[in-house]
Amino acid sequence: MFPFKLDCIKYLEQLRWSNQIKCPYCKSKYNTSFKRESRYHCNTCFTSFSVMIGTVLHNTKLDLRKWFAAIVIIVQSDGHISCRNLAKKLDTNRNTCNFINQRINKLINYNKQAFQSLVEAYVIEQIKKPNVPLQKSIWFQEAIKFLLKEIRM
Ligand SMILES: [Zn+2]
Repeated sequence: MFPFKLDCIKYLEQLRWSNQIKCPYCKSKYNTSFKRESRYHCNTCFTSFSVMIGTVLHNTKLDLRKWFAAIVIIVQSDGHISCRNLAKKLDTNRNTCNFINQRINKLINYNKQAFQSLVEAYVIEQIKKPNVPLQKSIWFQEAIKFLLKEIRM
């Protein structure tokens, strides 16, 4: 399904926070982690949060690799892929695919310029470095950062 093994949560945390976990509500750096759930408790405003809060990934029970794969496929097709084909490639049913597709389309609509830049970065990297594996390519990282953009669902 996904071309390489990846600890998705760790990857998201690294991209969103680097090494400084910040509360999305009050931007405080003081937090305690609940290791088992990949959640954090803010010691300043006393809320709890995960890396996915405020993004399209918020409250999703779906395997994150499906989301990662979805954004990759959508970028590679310049946003022009039918839900049917996407479902086939993701190996999901139509409902799941519709859900992913709707959320990602909303994200694209709110960030058209950024999405276009992402597609261009993909195309340029394909020309310049066609043999770089997905996990090492810059555009892949940018694609996952794109998924992390804040949005109201
Ligand atoms: Zn806080």
